[in-house]
Formats: sequence, structure tokens, C-alpha cells
Amino acid sequence: NSSTNHYHAALLCPPGMGHIIPFLELAKHLVSHTIITKVTLFIASINNKSSKPQVETNILQSSMKQGFFDIIHLPPIDVPTNANMGTKLAIIMKESIPFICHEISTMTSPKPTILITELFGSLVLPIAEHFNMSKFVFWPSSAWNVALSLHTPTLDKVVEGEFTDQEEFIQIPGCNPISPCDLFSPFLDRNDQLYHEYLPMCEELRKVDGIFVNTFLELEAKTILALRSGKIYKVPIYPIGPLIREAKKQNCDDENRDYVIDWLDKQEEESVIYVSLGSGYTMSHEQIKEMALGLELSGKKFVWSLRPPSTKAGNDRYLTAGEDAGSNGVPKTRASVSAFPDEFHKIQNRGLVIMDWAPQLEILKHSSIGVFVSHCGWNSILESVSCGVPIVGWPLFADQLMNAETMAKEIGIGIRLNVAQSTKVVGSEEIGKTIWKIMDKEDIEGCAMRKRVKELKHIAEKIWSQDGPSFCEMTNAFVKMSHTNGV
Ligand code: UDP
Repeated sequence: NSSTNHYHAALLCPPGMGHIIPFLELAKHLVSHTIITKVTLFIASINNKSSKPQVETNILQSSMKQGFFDIIHLPPIDVPTNANMGTKLAIIMKESIPFICHEISTMTSPKPTILITELFGSLVLPIAEHFNMSKFVFWPSSAWNVALSLHTPTLDKVVEGEFTDQEEFIQIPGCNPISPCDLFSPFLDRNDQLYHEYLPMCEELRKVDGIFVNTFLELEAKTILALRSGKIYKVPIYPIGPLIREAKKQNCDDENRDYVIDWLDKQEEESVIYVSLGSGYTMSHEQIKEMALGLELSGKKFVWSLRPPSTKAGNDRYLTAGEDAGSNGVPKTRASVSAFPDEFHKIQNRGLVIMDWAPQLEILKHSSIGVFVSHCGWNSILESVSCGVPIVGWPLFADQLMNAETMAKEIGIGIRLNVAQSTKVVGSEEIGKTIWKIMDKEDIEGCAMRKRVKELKHIAEKIWSQDGPSFCEMTNAFVKMSHTNGV
């Protein structure tokens, strides 16, 4: 079919590095795919009255220099500062609709025929009908998460009372049941604005031509098969993961990067802990204290990507993550440590602390890294898998709790830390002993996790080769689309 050579895909990405990074990867993979001839990436943004995060600018500029695809920055949108992150994202995406429509209608040939966005952009999907485009969702998180969202309109009808008050686990046909404690924010209060924004997004998700999920069969076989059985809802599912960046010298300040890598070069193989709780999370003093004591108890060396502490832990910086990056992290590290608790100062000499954007992939890829203490953002899990590094999971909010469960129970490449119910903080002993267990060459469970993650690394290496499984899934999606919609 000669028309299959002329697809122009328009991608719509919400703000936040956790979204932008996988969307850039999706864009690159689409461009390299013979079926797609042109890709335009729209990036929505928040009006936070300060300049764009330096790291975002660096990453986008480097993609643009390579001339892979067009990037269109949508005008920044004002959001109420006190709204939660999900509500902010929903507002930004909805209010970006007129700008997207304007851009698409003024595009010259080839006009976009495919619209791909994320769950928060799904409220934008109805415009696809107006422009006669096929519509897809790209899911930069787990398949289990897709299953929950697809099943939500049904749960809404059958579950009585608050989801979090349920005594039984939440059942999804064919999938592992979900503990009510692990549900993400929209499920916490059915009367909250966020739940009322999330529910219609799930309805839109049921109407798409396909969902691209950043996962692969060997990670989530049971869930992927359940999704494909149509028992949850009949929507085509395409596992196209892992889409992760190449570990290249492009994403952070060079001096900072060289300092970290030189230090890692001097360490023994698989002897160092890498700690990062994500791109935009600020730890409380209490959390930093326990983490520092836990690292001390582990007796190992470490690299810790850490933002200055706050009296209140939280994700306020999520949509603007990386704002403080771009400067040389090392002197800055020395300059700002006075804000940290005493426990932190004690262990400083046993490791490196990076207080701006860490070259995470390069660190994980380094042979001296033995374990990743992670918040279990899905990108971080995929990156760890691709580098063959086992995980100690300290999930904090959003999809991270379910991701940590998937990582530990379904994928089997690490351990999820127990959070003390009274303080909501993970204790230092728990941190120290779990790190020790995973890194201990004699520990049977630790050995099994290390072996499993290395096997997955080898599978992931070949998955995007020509005719590899994820490459073929993408082809199938567009072939099916052309048969169904005749576009
Ligand atoms: N990241 C990084 N350096 C940092 C913090 C984060 O390179 O200092 C990258 C990380 O490699 C990943 C992304 O930012 O690609 C974070 O995505 P993830 O889904 O793991 O977590 P989020 O930050 O969205 O919670």
C-alpha cells in the first residue's frame, strides 16, 4: 500500500521530564520507522513564571540538532498553584487544545494523519476526528497501570464507597489484584476534582485505535496477555518498550558528568549504590536522615542524586524538574550542604552527592554500580533493567507504588522497602539491610534478582533491532490502523 509511506504523526506531550524523555524516544523511534515519514512533537508547558528548566532545553536542543523531527512548544498555561499535579496537567492539556488545532490546521502537506498523546492528553483526542486522524495513546508507564485505567469506568460502577477503604484488593480481569493502598491519586477521593477529571480520560482511552505501552512481554507477560484477551476492554495494545535514551554525553553539564564518571571508574565492580528519587521530588529532612543512616549501615559507597531538603516532602517541582541544573554540580554540592541534617554530613566522604541533574543512564550503565535505590518512576525501572542493575524500591506517590510492586513481584529484580505506617518514612535499618541483601554475593534471593535483571538486559538489547518484537509491534499498529481506518 503506497499510502503507508506518507504518514505524518503528531505527538502531544505533557510537561515534565518524566513525560518529555519517553516522548522524545518515541518520536525518534517513529522517525526511524519506515512507515512514518514525518513526526511533529508538540510540548505543552506550565506558566511558572521562571525560565524553562535548563536540562529540558539541553535535551530538546540536542534532539533538534540531530534534525529528527519538528518540535513545537505550545504557549505556557496558567494553573492554580495550590492544585495537585494531576489537576494541573489536566488543565494544561485542555487549555492547549485551541493552540494545537491552530497548528494542525495551518500545517502544509503532508498533514498529520496520526495523533499520539498520553493519558493526560486524552481529553484532546476528540480533535482527531475533526482532522480525520487516527488516535493513539502512548503510555510511559506499566501495562498494569493501563489495565487499571481501562478498567476504571467499570470499577466506578461496581465499587461502593471510597476505593482506599476497600477491605479486599481491587480486581482486574486476568491481572494481579491491586492493594487499595497502592492506588494512585485520583482514587484517593471520589469527590475530588481529580477523580472527575481522570474518569473521562479513562473513557477516552477506551476509544483509541491503540495504546503503545513502554513495556515488553518478558516484564509483564500476565498483564499484557490479560489486556490482549479483551476481557478488560477491547482496545489494541502494543508493547513497544523499552524506549529509553542512549547513555550519551549530552544530557547534563560535562564537568559534572566527568567528575562522577571519573569517580566511578576508580571503584570496584558492582560495589556502588546509586540513589535517586526522581526528577522532581524533594525529600524531607526526616527522609534524608533515614536514607543517610541507611547508606551508612549498608557500609557501601554511593552516588546520591539529591535536591536540597524541604520541611515538607513532595512533588511540587515535578512539572519544572531540572530548573537548577546546568551549573557545575560539584562546587554547588559543597556550597549548599549546610541545609542538610547531621546524619548526611557524616557519610559525605563515602560517596558523591549530585545536587543538580545527574547523568542517570551513564551512572547506571557503569560497571561499578551494584544497586539502584529508586522511587520506581517507570523510566527509572526501564533504565535499570536495560543496564542490568537490581533495584531497592522506595515508591513515593503517583504510579510509583504500583510500579514498585510490579518491579518486585512480577519482574523479580528487586525489593520494595516497607514504609513505617506511623511516620510514612522508610527506616534506616530497612534501607541498610535491603541494600545489603541485594548486593550480597552469598544471598540466594539477591543472586536470583541480579541474575534475572541481567537476563532482561540481554532481551532488552535486541528488542528494538530491525524485526525485533517492539519494532514489529509498532509496524503492526500502523498496518492495522490502515486496514481499519483506511488512512
Ligand atoms: N533523570 C536524570 N537525572 C536526574 C533525575 C532524573 O537523568 O537527576 C531522568 C531519569 O533517567 C529518567 C527521568 O529523568 O529518565 C525520570 O523519569 P522517571 O519516570 O523515572 O521518574 P519521574 O521523575 O518522572 O518521577
